[in-house]
Amino acid sequence: MSNYKIETKCVQGGYRPGNGEPRQIPIVQSTTFRYETSEDMGKLFDLEASGYFYSRLQNPTCDTVAAKICELEGGTAAMLTSSGQAANFYAVFNIANCGDHVVCSSTIYGGTFNLFAVTMKKMGIEFTFVTPDCSAEELEAAFCPNTKAVFGETIANPALTVLDIEKFATAAHAHGVPLIIDNTFATPVNCRPFEWGADIVTHSTTKYMDGHGAAVGGCIVDSGKFDWMAHAEKFPGLCTPDDSYHGIVYAEKFGKEGAFIYKATAQLMRDFGSTPAPQSAFLLNLGLESLHVRMERHCANALAVAKFLEGHEKITWVTYAGLESSPYYALAQKYMPKGTCGVVSFGVKGGRKAAEQFMKHLRLAAIETHVADARTCCLHPASATHRQMNDEELIAAGVSGDLVRLSCGLESADDLIADLAQALETV
Ligand SMILES: *Cc1c(COP(=O)(O)O)cnc(C)c1O
Repeated sequence: MSNYKIETKCVQGGYRPGNGEPRQIPIVQSTTFRYETSEDMGKLFDLEASGYFYSRLQNPTCDTVAAKICELEGGTAAMLTSSGQAANFYAVFNIANCGDHVVCSSTIYGGTFNLFAVTMKKMGIEFTFVTPDCSAEELEAAFCPNTKAVFGETIANPALTVLDIEKFATAAHAHGVPLIIDNTFATPVNCRPFEWGADIVTHSTTKYMDGHGAAVGGCIVDSGKFDWMAHAEKFPGLCTPDDSYHGIVYAEKFGKEGAFIYKATAQLMRDFGSTPAPQSAFLLNLGLESLHVRMERHCANALAVAKFLEGHEKITWVTYAGLESSPYYALAQKYMPKGTCGVVSFGVKGGRKAAEQFMKHLRLAAIETHVADARTCCLHPASATHRQMNDEELIAAGVSGDLVRLSCGLESADDLIADLAQALETV
């Protein structure tokens, strides 16, 4: 499929049925797989032959969908995980161990921030957070001798900052470590981070890829470009023998193209088991088939809504990288010329109380903690996810009391704007 355009890959990537085989991807609802001899199975356990033996590690339905996402991103290997959280945990933990360090953009998803700054810190992995807008010198200063990776989000959730991927890739490579990009909000339809120097891409497929609020999931894709063996002293897990698989060396046996995903599957999926159900992978694939069509509409609706809000007297500020007034407009044009995402955030004049009042009167936009759904939804963090914080604490967390996050769905932009207009009248 590699010569086809992204739209064609969304629809047909990852799966090509043979003569008389099902047109839709089969759901292989089986935990286990049958073999003729113990020798046959033994080869699988030694990673000498490839094949399925237990769905905690690999399942054909999940692999088919992972192969489609791999094609969409332009990678060489990919795996699905049961959530975006699992994808980011595996992607980092696959190369950073106790005593290691990671450089990370400070504007990342709250769940990822907690995973890194609290839970992985308890595992002995330290993170240094740098603002995505930092200078090359400030970024350089964040590295330590034990740094093993750099991490950021193409478009941050919910801050909506745009990452200068090339700047972060250059710094990571100067230090002999890979750049991991969470590409959830942009999706490969709008941005392919590998084309800008990223080495590993992760996704919460729960968002636009699924797109219908149906199944939680995640994905990790390897570009196949990072040369682990050239920095073997930094990555012993990939470049020295794994005793739990008869001493194979992943970077030797599977090369640059396959080592990262093989190791994450053979060790992390084996031991942590954050595997998706085949049924969830099937639902994800239904979403992927229309991803390119939906992203275009999500972005068009968000831009129309952002422009309406920007001109409204009861709105104090609007954050959307597709607006020419955005400080991220130039970066967005460079990395995402087709559009950014469907999420817009803005402030309602009158602060916390006014924002609450406004949201109460919305008819189409439902109040949810979700984003990237076909149905428009919104959240007032100050009265929901961040409600325990006072006004000063909210500002320190980058979430002002008046902030409303709106995820524009696939409805008519006219209807969405009319809904916002009537709710603003009540404020
Ligand atoms: C939602 C989200 C995650 C976490 O994904 P889950 O599927 O909810 O586990 C990670 N990164 C980003 C950017 C997200 O929006």
